[in-house]
Formats: sequence, structure tokens, C-alpha cells
Amino acid sequence: MDVLVVSDIHANLEALRAVLDDAGRYDALWFLGDAVGYGPDPEACVQLLIERSPAIWLAGNHDHAALGKLDVSDFNPEARAAAEWTAGQLSDAVRARLNACVPRIDDAGADVTFVHASPRSPVREYILNAALAEAAFDGFSGPLCLFGHTHVPAAYDEAVDGASRHPLTPDAPLDLTGGRWLVNPGSVGQPRDGDPRASYLRLTAHADGRRSVTLRRVAYDIAATQAKILAAGLPPRLAARLEFGW
Ligand code: ZN
Repeated sequence: MDVLVVSDIHANLEALRAVLDDAGRYDALWFLGDAVGYGPDPEACVQLLIERSPAIWLAGNHDHAALGKLDVSDFNPEARAAAEWTAGQLSDAVRARLNACVPRIDDAGADVTFVHASPRSPVREYILNAALAEAAFDGFSGPLCLFGHTHVPAAYDEAVDGASRHPLTPDAPLDLTGGRWLVNPGSVGQPRDGDPRASYLRLTAHADGRRSVTLRRVAYDIAATQAKILAAGLPPRLAARLEFGW
């Protein structure tokens, strides 16, 4: 079984298309939330996701903000402006689809917990380091939790002496057999680890029972997305940051 794990698309249609082209064939698509917010194509991104019918489709904080389900007073000014603009772009059908999503799913069949942000706080908490990951392990009981929200690819395992972070290198499989893991695929539409290429994971369940993840990074037409952000009247900083991967 070969699964695409994507998160934080953020209305970046060029990045989403590049990821799906790069991925080719797969058995299932798991999406960890934030389809919209920041980017210029919220309606088209959700429509493309609907076509691909993800087996897992979570809600993120920016999805909630666009639906008016989250108070945006603690968003930074650019995020708040984008949330307000996004709210006016969505069709009733897309709003209804986003409204049906929840920020956490515990899937006993797949033996995976899915959260947008963290198991303790599925919409808001940022798991940014090993200390926060260690606390997050208390929030789920299975062997694997997939999370997004930070826009930084990361893998943590629950070692005896505290959680530790493992490097996720593009195209180098990381074996998740044994122990418990928290894994983040990074962001499709607004990476924040200094690499501007779109980020996603392939999760492979091998015939012998082993499970591994492989990070992929994909170049896309950043200039096209930037031009659309500016043409839509969204904050220019949201365009500028894409080329720095921040
Ligand atoms: Zn996000």
C-alpha cells in the first residue's frame, strides 16, 4: 500500500498540481488540513481535492477561519486579510465540503492518528521541537500520528530517554517499524523550512509488515502563484515569502 500524505496546501494550485503530477499513481490520499488561506486559488484547490477524493481529509485552522468557525484576532495581519478574502471566494459546495471536515481522526484500521496541529490541540498547537513532540505523544495511543500545521517536514520517535528528531531527507526512506512516531509531511503550498519546493510524503506499507515514509520535494511555478496573489490584492508579503521557503 502506497499512500500520499499531504498537508497545508493553502490555496496554491500550482504547487498542488506539481505534487500530484510528481506523485503519479497511489493507493490512497491522506490530507491533513489547511486547503485554503494565504494563497490565491482556494476554490480551485478544494475542487481538485474533491476530484481526488482523499480517504482522510482534515480541517485546519485556516479552513476554520475561512468558514467563520475560528476567531482570527490572533492571526497575524497578513493571515487575517487572507482569511477574510478567502471567505468571499468559496462556493456553497466548497464551503459545505470544508465544513464537513474535522481536525482529528483516529483510524484504528490504518493504525494511524491524524491531526492537523497536534494530538493535544488538533487545530492550534505547533509541534516545533522534540520537547513539544514528547508531550504530544501523550495525546494518542497508537504507533503513528501524522500531523501538519508547522509547514516543516519532521519525524520524531518516542525514545526511552525522551522524544528525538530524525532527519527527513528527500528520497531517503525512513523506517517507522517499532516504537511510536510523530511525522509531518511539510507543506505543499507554503513551505517554511528554507526550501521553497512543495513538500509531501509517500508512506509505504510493505508486504512484510514494515512501514516507511519518504519525503519528496517538488519544484513548481512560484512566479505564477506570486502573480496571482498580487493580482488578487492579497498582502504582497504572502507572495514574497514563497520564493524563500518561509
Ligand atoms: Zn497551515
